[in-house]
Amino acid sequence: FWEISYNIAHLMHFIPLAISSAASVQHMQEMLDEPVRGADRPGAPDMPPVANDITFDRVSFHYEGSDTNVIEHLTLKLQAGKSIAIVGPSGSGKSTLLNLILRLYEPTEGRVTIDGVDARKVTRDSLRSHMAVVFQENMLFNMSIRENIRLGKQDATDAEVEAAARKAEIHRHIMTLPERYDTLVGERGDTLSGGQRQRIAIARAMVRNPSVLLLDEATSALDQTTEAAINHTLLKVAQGRTMIWSTHRLTSVVEMDEIIVMSEGRVVERGSHLELIAGNGLYRHLWDDQMHQPHRDESDEGEDDDD
Ligand code: ATP
Repeated sequence: FWEISYNIAHLMHFIPLAISSAASVQHMQEMLDEPVRGADRPGAPDMPPVANDITFDRVSFHYEGSDTNVIEHLTLKLQAGKSIAIVGPSGSGKSTLLNLILRLYEPTEGRVTIDGVDARKVTRDSLRSHMAVVFQENMLFNMSIRENIRLGKQDATDAEVEAAARKAEIHRHIMTLPERYDTLVGERGDTLSGGQRQRIAIARAMVRNPSVLLLDEATSALDQTTEAAINHTLLKVAQGRTMIWSTHRLTSVVEMDEIIVMSEGRVVERGSHLELIAGNGLYRHLWDDQMHQPHRDESDEGEDDDD
């Protein structure tokens, strides 16, 4: 299902009205064009969980119908088990990088390897079975909370759904609802707050038990307090996994193991927050800019020490 979500997230940039009136998975599927390029090669083996690294090896990429490279001769090793932020100005290629990791698109030049194996040479389904994605806007359907979480893994048991909700620190809230996990979320999840919807989306990702968790602006639409609470949850659920988080919000990335700074399809800096802030490069400039912006504030404190 996340693939549908992923497509929806892309479509949302273009047709928000169509999205807001869409009511069912079926309708969504009918609406979607398959953006995937490249079928499985004959005899392609399945890919095991990512153990060592995801590497971009001299990758260039342009979208069809354009000859401008949005990724430009990119060589980059993303170490498994780390929390890695991808930051940079709008249009610098952050989401495209995630698209290439997910093999939603394939490089125009060069290759993406996973533990040394070209991502094009394994089955796409196996590659994606180890990954989950959380977006800024995640589709919730007017079904029960349980069914919404189970969209991450269709054969998940009730116990798995509940374990995922605990990880996302939304279990205790669910248990206060009249029908608990059977509560309907309403059209587009509008009985839930933005933070709660995001936690359901995190639960949907966690039920897949992914070795790679990809986040595309996952907390950028939230107010500052909610964002901080959800960042805290995300850093916890990322333990023992590879987390790759594309974001504009630099306050989200301070605690991450590594920050990759992109500009015009290239990596211009990488390091920890403290290393990058000590420099006088793009990161430092972006940081200074954001520190001078006013913040919104509301509330979603999350669930401390969910049992
Ligand atoms: P933002 O922070 O605004 O989300 P980004 O750094 O994630 O930006 P991308 O979304 O990867 O950047 O976009 C990089 C470039 O590719 C942009 O110029 C964008 O307009 C273009 N682009 C993105 N998606 C597509 C697409 N599906 N078809 C054509 N061009 C695209």
